Formats: sequence, structure tokens, C-alpha cells
Amino acid sequence: MKVLALILAALAGTASAAGCGPDKLNTSRTLTLKREGALYGTNQHAALPLAKGEVVLTFDDGPSPENTPLVLKALSDQCAKATFFMIGQQIAQNTELAKRVVREGHSAGIHSDTHPHLATLTVEQQLEDLKRSRAAYKEVFGIETPAYRFPFLEETPTLLAALKEANITVASIDLAINDWIPEDTTAILAERLKNSLDKAGSGIILMHDANGPTAKALPTLLQVLKDKGYKVVHLEWE
Ligand SMILES: [Zn+2]
Repeated sequence: MKVLALILAALAGTASAAGCGPDKLNTSRTLTLKREGALYGTNQHAALPLAKGEVVLTFDDGPSPENTPLVLKALSDQCAKATFFMIGQQIAQNTELAKRVVREGHSAGIHSDTHPHLATLTVEQQLEDLKRSRAAYKEVFGIETPAYRFPFLEETPTLLAALKEANITVASIDLAINDWIPEDTTAILAERLKNSLDKAGSGIILMHDANGPTAKALPTLLQVLKDKGYKVVHLEWE
């Protein structure tokens, strides 16, 4: 019976994979990074080793009970894997949702503990924020975070040194859709994505899973990527 159950489970896996045919955006490949204090994203640093037309989907500021489930649904519908940069306090308040993100095959890093303007804090306060967000991550996922994205992409020498010391990747971005305005419509966000893609041609895309308009627009945004022939690369860490 055990063998039969395994066979049935394998068949079920095949069936769901069959839903990820050429009509879907899909995930074209996985890029596994070393756990080292590298810095990526041409907004501030070196480019990831991506070919033209390859993009990495990243979502910041969650998990959000209102919006992250919609983002997960849109990604699942298109068989696309992403990386979520989560706020420590949001992880602590939404542990099940945080776990669900990773269970669905996405990767997760941290995005500070309280989303402060770090440069306005003392060195001690900055290190405390990092310590708390790392602890929140470890508590829920059982491992050290492999990656960090600075709130507002505002880097500080103190935290750059601390992240390097802890072998945590600093993930900046290559392009964005400036998705924080509550009145943004799906059409506006799609237009911004098209313009950003035309300019950058490849790279790490910053979006916000905690942002209502983004969650609502995501099916359309993923369709834009598919229609323009972009390939999704999933970031993971050793
Ligand atoms: Zn943020």
C-alpha cells in the first residue's frame, strides 16, 4: 500500500507539472548563489550572471495576510518562482504565511525588522534591527537568512560590513515598477513594467507583495513578461 501511495503521489506531481505547459510563463532555470557576502543589482552593485531577457522576480515588505496570498496564487498560476524579502516583524506576526511562501517553492530573505530609514539610526540601533530580523527569520525557517535587501535600498556602512561578516548576500535591484501608490491601476503598473523592461533588458525586478495594487495586477504583470518573451530565473542559495 505504501508503494501504491508513492506511485499515486508521483502521478499527482506529474499531473500538476503538466499544468505548467508552454502557455505559462514558467521558471526557466534556477540560479544558486553561494552563501557569501556578495552584492548584486546594478542599481548599486554588480549585475547577477543573467542573459539578456532573463529576469528575477522579487517581492518586498510582506508577508501580508491581505495581499501575499494573491501574489502566491498569481505566481502558482504561471508556474513562476520568486524571492520574497520579508520584514522581520511581518514574519513574526504571520509565521504560517511566511512558511507557506517557502513551501510553495519560493526563496526568502530579510528586509530589516521594522523597515526603518537605517541611515537615521545609530550604529547600535542598526545592528539591533539586523539582529532581530535575522532571529525572526531563523525562528520560522530554522536556518540563517541567506540574503538581505535594504529598506528603501538605503545602504549603510555599518550594515554592509555586518552582512559581509555574516556571509549574507546584499540584494539590490536592476529595475522596479515604483509600486507604492495606493491609486495605481493595473494598467499603470503594467505600463511601468513595460518601460522598465525596455530600458533594462534583464535583471532583478523589485515589486511589493504587501502592496494591494501590485497583488491585484500581478496576473497582468506576469502576462506582460510572457508576451515580451522574458524568462524567469529563480534565485536560491546553497
Ligand atoms: Zn521595503
